[in-house]
Amino acid sequence: MIYCVEDERNIRELIVYTLESSGYPTKGFETGKEFYKALEEQQPDLILLDLMLPGEDGMEILNRLKNSDVTKSIPVILVTAKGAEYDKVMGLDCGADDYITKPFGMMEFIARVRAVLRRTGREDKIDGDLESGDLKILIQKHQVLAGGLEVVLTLKEFELLKYLMENKGIVLSRDRILGHIWGYDFDGETRTVDVHIRTLRQKLGSYGELIKTIRGVGYKIGD
Ligand code: CA
Repeated sequence: MIYCVEDERNIRELIVYTLESSGYPTKGFETGKEFYKALEEQQPDLILLDLMLPGEDGMEILNRLKNSDVTKSIPVILVTAKGAEYDKVMGLDCGADDYITKPFGMMEFIARVRAVLRRTGREDKIDGDLESGDLKILIQKHQVLAGGLEVVLTLKEFELLKYLMENKGIVLSRDRILGHIWGYDFDGETRTVDVHIRTLRQKLGSYGELIKTIRGVGYKIGD
């Protein structure tokens, strides 16, 4: 998944269209606020960040991303009309992986995106495969591998594991898990989550230990 923060609608739609046509699922956001909200739901493999934004600007967003342990390893490409050497150096100094100046050709743009994904070792993950240690989810095949062996899960168990792995390192509350997997209008209890976590752990065997219980809050995978 690629996230693109760009307030100019035409450019945002063009970027999303171009990336999706090239096989990269992409979501566009008009403001930092919308982007942060999505970031809580799912972490992308790459962020395209416009510098000139209303409200919090791109450089502030970049600083915030790079100062958080959860988001600092996500590669960022700055996309901006400002071609000044100063901004470019500032952006790269602040941890951006590349810098594209508007206007740009789409061929060049895709090439730059690919190059950053390759350099940061995320190219083969982009189609959505997830992994945490020896636990892997092959999204296209709808398959879970633990230590190389396939584990057969029910649909809810699969979605639960996928949601935890999409948010590696983030504690997910029972309510949030319930809302995401069962829907917010689900007329059940948060205990449903515990029951599914238990069967999921059993099926994963020793790899079930990767799912950590955070007492009084919920669950997470990874450190
Ligand atoms: Ca802008």
